[in-house]
Formats: sequence, C-alpha cells, structure tokens
Amino acid sequence: MDKASKKYCLDLTEEELLKWCLDNGFPKFRAGQISKWLNSGVTETSRMTNIPASMRQKLDEDFIFSEMKIIDEFVSKIDGTRKLVYLLPDGNIIETVIMRYKTGLSICISSQAGCKMGCSFCASAKAGFGRSLTAGEMVAQVLMAQDHIGEKIRTVVVMGIGEPFDNFDNLLEFIKIMNNPDGINMGARHITVSTCGLVPKIKEFTKLKLQVNLAISLHAPNDELRRELMPVASAYSISELIDACRDYVNKTGRRITFEYSLFNEVNDTFACAEQLSRLLKGLNCHVNLIAANEFPGSPYKRCVPKRVDAFRRALESKGINATLRREMGTDIMAACGQLRRSKEEERAGQV
Ligand code: SF4
Repeated sequence: MDKASKKYCLDLTEEELLKWCLDNGFPKFRAGQISKWLNSGVTETSRMTNIPASMRQKLDEDFIFSEMKIIDEFVSKIDGTRKLVYLLPDGNIIETVIMRYKTGLSICISSQAGCKMGCSFCASAKAGFGRSLTAGEMVAQVLMAQDHIGEKIRTVVVMGIGEPFDNFDNLLEFIKIMNNPDGINMGARHITVSTCGLVPKIKEFTKLKLQVNLAISLHAPNDELRRELMPVASAYSISELIDACRDYVNKTGRRITFEYSLFNEVNDTFACAEQLSRLLKGLNCHVNLIAANEFPGSPYKRCVPKRVDAFRRALESKGINATLRREMGTDIMAACGQLRRSKEEERAGQV
C-alpha cells in the first residue's frame, strides 16, 4: 500500500480495526488490544508488547504508526506550563500547550497546521496554512501528551493553531472519539471548542446540541474594529454573529464564552467596554479577557494591567461576567502559533 493511501492509526475506527483483523486472519480480540494501546497514547507498534511480531509488522505495512512525533518540548520556569512540538507524517509542524490548574491538567490542541483566517494579531496566521488535521491527529495530541508526561489530562481546549470550524467534520469526529465510553471516555463538558466566528458553522453546531463548551473569539465590540483585527468580520457582521450566539444559548441552554484579547489603546478603551456590554446584554455568557502576548512583528502592544483592570470593571459594572485569563507559559511563547512560526523560520533559514 502506498503511503499516501494509508490511514493514520488514530483515525481507525473500532469497526475498521476489527474488519482488518478478520480480513488478515487475526482473531477479533486483537482489535480490542490494539484499540487499548491506541487509547492509552501508544502509537508505536514496537511498544504493543502483547501483539505478536508478525501482526505488528502487518500493522506497520498497512497503516501509519509512530510517524507523528514529539520533536521538541519547552517547560515554563514560571508555572510549569509545557509546550510540545509535534512533527506530522508529512512534515507539517503543530504545537500543543499543557497547563496545570487547581482542577487538573488542561491541554490546548491545534486543529490545523496553520490557519487561513488571517487575524492580524496572530502568529499562526503569519506562518501560513499547511492543511487541516485529521481527527486522529487531534486525538494524538492529547494521548501522546498524556503518555509523554505520565499524567491524565482532564480538559481539552481546541484553541491552538487553526480554526476548528474550518475543519468541521474532523472536529466532530474528534469529539466523538474523545467521548466514546468504550474508549477515551472524556465527557463533552470537559471539551471546549473556540471559533473566530464562522456563523454558518455556529448554526450547524447549535443544531447538534452537544454538551461541548463553545467559545467565540470576539476581540472587538463593533464591525469596524473587528474587521481591522479579524478578516472573518468582513464575511459575517457582529450582529449576525451575536444573533447566532443568542440562538445557540437559547437552543442548547448552555452558557457561551467570549474571548477578548486586549491590545493597548486599540480595543481596550472605556467606549469599547461600554459597547461590548450593550452587545452582550441579557445573554448568558462569560467574557474571558486576555492581556495578549506580543510576538516579534506584531503590530499591537500588550495592554497595561491598569487598563485591563479598568476594562474588566467597566464590564462588570454593567452586569457582564468577566475574568482576566491567567497568563501561563509567557517565557516559552505559549500563545497560539508563536513557536510554529519560529520553527518554520528556523527551517527556512536552514535551507
Ligand atoms: S487567532 Fe485563531 S482563527 Fe485567527 S488566525 Fe490565529 S489561529 Fe486562526
């Protein structure tokens, strides 16, 4: 079988594994054994010690095992946040960030290698777009990280490199695999998906009535400013976006989160806070304020603490729940896409 037509091991369904076992003359209990290894993050057949050598060889011939690798790791000296850098079988690079909270470990995974959305404040956008990840490659980030650090991960946030709703079908498959009670068995409420605001996909997502948490990267309270920061705002107006969010909350009964990165003297003014509170009035929501990281070449400056606090207080005075997201891993460039970009530049420099 040529490599391009081979499936990545974590994209195999239990039915496919079972069929493969039977087609190749292996007993069906072997499918369960392989699934168990995969669900525990072991993606190298050489480590599947209860599988006969001949079967491991056949698995390697027919599917892609072990070719997704952790090639680098950075650990924050400030708070222990870890960034893992993965090399995909086709040479693309993605990153994953693992953070420790009082409630346990949380992982922020990538949904694409790069991103097409072009947000002006984002390092991922600057590094261009490679491709969307398969569901298995998203699952692998969680399982391989767990295996690597030897500790269970409690919550998953799909908020790393890429726009998850631009990879909708694979995202849904990822959620299904993570939820599977006979497999990884992570509750939907432990998973958060963050979108920059692809309105038609928010509507589709609403119809599914999943228990997964939804977060919207808003970052501006009006169309003009939002278009400056996020090209997606030219396709969908802020009122269309908020209408879709209201519909989501009404139909699912779930609270929605808005991510709002503060850039100094850009979107952190009192007028912006006022506008934002009017926009979100009466909506069951929470605003996560982020004092955004600067990165080389970024046109924006980090918002100073005094302005961050004033913004939060202005929202709260209007009855909008808002918290400042604790910054983690600032010394290892933990924000979205920063490391991928520097790795790409490093690789380009080596050519
Ligand atoms: S902020 Fe998110 S949606 Fe925007 S370019 Fe970066 S990864 Fe893509």
